[in-house]
Amino acid sequence: MIEENVKKLLEEIKENPYGEKVTLVAAVKTQTVESINRAIAAGITDIGDNHVQEFRDKYDEITGSPRRHFIGHLQTNKVKYLIGKTFLYQSVDRLELAEEISKRSARAGVTSDCLVQINIGNEETKGGFEYEYGLDACRKIAAMPALKVKGLMAMLPFTDDEAVLRPLAKKMRALYDALRGEMDGIEYLSMGMSGDWKLCVECGSNMVRLGTSIFGTRRYN
Ligand SMILES: *Cc1c(COP(=O)(O)O)cnc(C)c1O
Repeated sequence: MIEENVKKLLEEIKENPYGEKVTLVAAVKTQTVESINRAIAAGITDIGDNHVQEFRDKYDEITGSPRRHFIGHLQTNKVKYLIGKTFLYQSVDRLELAEEISKRSARAGVTSDCLVQINIGNEETKGGFEYEYGLDACRKIAAMPALKVKGLMAMLPFTDDEAVLRPLAKKMRALYDALRGEMDGIEYLSMGMSGDWKLCVECGSNMVRLGTSIFGTRRYN
């Protein structure tokens, strides 16, 4: 099941209309080590966690050395547990968090890479900078000594109304292109979950974060 899902998704997810390779990140919250390792054995190269505790509990048991992403809301007092172990901090949604990652990275003698999260639907329930403040936030974060901005991350609203989703996804690509025009090293527009990844890739996303379509419906205890 997991193996088949991964193979099918890796065949389906190739390039976006801009000719960019699309990276598939497995969203592993609530999944067992066994399931995660099966997905990796089937070809998953990148995994993304939401919870620091889960990340830490499973860290040493994950096989195959995937790249580790952090994709969930991150409290500043937990940043210290992720330093040096995270390929990409995708959910940098406030300056205070960026400052903490930069400070802790500098102290550890490393430079960390991040995406700046944008609240594209302007939703109270979601984190992220306001769209209009997005570029300014990227500039401020890029100026921090031990943190590099590699792109943007967004979650679209939970609806299957394409008339709502498509314009928002295109606005994110426009912001991404503006950012690329201004800074070096911009590589990732992370946008797309199990329900909307096809639309997101069509609109120019080059990184999707999938949980349900790899592992099936999540069970929360
Ligand atoms: C859980 C999660 C996903 C994956 O969601 P699915 O709908 O299961 O694919 C992607 N991004 C973030 C930030 C998540 O928390």
